[in-house]
Amino acid sequence: MRVGILGGGQLARMLALAGYPLGLDFTVLEPAQDACAGPLTQHLRAEYTDAEALQALAGEADCITYEFENVPAESVTRLDRQVHVYPPPHALAAARDRFLEKTLFNQLEIETAPFADVQDLDSLRAAVEQVGLPAVLKTRTLGYDGKGQAVIREEGELEKAWESIGAVPAILEGFVEFEREVSLVSVRSREGEVAFYPLARNHHSEGILRRSLSLDGDPAQQLAEQYAQRMLERLDYVGVLAIEFFQIGHHLLANEMAPRVHNSGHWTIEGAVTSQFENHLRAILGLPLGDTSSTGHAAMVNLIGELPDTRELLRLPGAHLHLYGKAPRAGRKIGHVTLVEEDRRILQVKLQRLEELVHGRGGESRS
Ligand code: AMP
Repeated sequence: MRVGILGGGQLARMLALAGYPLGLDFTVLEPAQDACAGPLTQHLRAEYTDAEALQALAGEADCITYEFENVPAESVTRLDRQVHVYPPPHALAAARDRFLEKTLFNQLEIETAPFADVQDLDSLRAAVEQVGLPAVLKTRTLGYDGKGQAVIREEGELEKAWESIGAVPAILEGFVEFEREVSLVSVRSREGEVAFYPLARNHHSEGILRRSLSLDGDPAQQLAEQYAQRMLERLDYVGVLAIEFFQIGHHLLANEMAPRVHNSGHWTIEGAVTSQFENHLRAILGLPLGDTSSTGHAAMVNLIGELPDTRELLRLPGAHLHLYGKAPRAGRKIGHVTLVEEDRRILQVKLQRLEELVHGRGGESRS
């Protein structure tokens, strides 16, 4: 069977790596020549709107999926007429627009920060009245890794914030003083079978995920699963769905969802019986889902911007190094490292050493 993927980045690469043992083949549609999934797949090098390339992809793939939310909706709709596209296009539409996404969360009685639609400076002023300050202004679409966002602390910053996000349709969200950030990776099969991974605790800086820790048996797991279950059912979802939450006490406020495999689930490659990548493929191909239990306490650290000394990383016992084959560039995710340990204290010690190697001695803040 051949799986078509819109996008040829590291997520497509890791899907291919998970799919080969299952006997699957892959074609990616991706305009960049140096796409990091390219060497592992058949690479159709064309724009996502290229009619011929879309036709070729639909012709050879048994099923199509995508690795990022911002694929053009018309291309997905067009493909969906000819071949199964999972997750379903309406899930993509709901997840790509922050206003629709948050509205849907609230319709399903999933808590979020207060938010309001912003179309221009006047509606931004009205939104500030409604939501209060501090607040975060975010573009409705095309934002990722903290891009297209501006924090507003005072009324005097409104114009600057509006200009900084490019004066495009946006939402204003209340700034959440969260205790921690967690995410739930869930998966639903074509037959409606559902499975959840243990929650991950996530640490961001400058809007980019730096580190995820798996949380086995966490008290917030049950509520997160209830929320995800509602969303999976509402969307008649197929594939992996990740939901990111801000946690305050017993409350989980949904921040966003990703209709795809997710960076906070990379630890599942070595830290769970079946990885998120394999389970996404199983789900979209109508195969039984694999066991989502963890095999130990896992920590995943992203390699961002520049490559640390990989020989030193590999000297760390039990470190699993994943390099994506991407050229280093500021703010760019070029790989990750995962540790899995039975003993949480041993994990902490190794994680500290890993972060020293990745960020330099002293590392990042380690809460
Ligand atoms: P996002 O692109 O929405 O996932 O935002 C990236 C990161 O910015 C989040 O993981 C948070 O660390 C931070 N952030 C985003 N929105 C808010 C908010 N409303 N309040 C506080 N922090 C936020």
